[in-house]
Amino acid sequence: MQNTRISISSVHDVIRYYIITISIILITIAAGKRTWCRYICPMYIFNYVGIKIGRFFKLPTLKIVSESDKCTQCRKCTDHCLMGLDVANMVKNNKWNTNECIKCGECLNQCKCDALKIKWTKQVSNKVI
Ligand code: SF4
Ligand code: SF4
Repeated sequence: MQNTRISISSVHDVIRYYIITISIILITIAAGKRTWCRYICPMYIFNYVGIKIGRFFKLPTLKIVSESDKCTQCRKCTDHCLMGLDVANMVKNNKWNTNECIKCGECLNQCKCDALKIKWTKQVSNKVI
């Protein structure tokens, strides 16, 4: 049988565990979906630095490209974005939140209007993420 219990050796560990857990829940309620990934996770720094290096050297990177004229604002992309981004609004305004998208492609899967595409490109503009 798989052991799924938490290993706790003292009352202090229990208190520490619940303080950390409740803090994460409260921060998430206050700051929104995927707060840990977006603002706290130390791995995010690698994502951020990688994006900056890629842009500085104009390296080809995987980007999501939008065509706002094809978008019907059904908002399915927003509803299913794993990072909680307002994708439909970004398509509408051609204004993308470039650092928080993890290129999972879920918004592309949801879009039935062919308004989103993913491709390798050197292009640096406000129409790509
Ligand atoms: S690829 Fe789409 S669904 Fe995934 S994080 Fe980026 S905007 Fe959100
Ligand atoms: S799923 Fe496609 S059509 Fe619907 S809002 Fe998003 S980009 Fe626009």
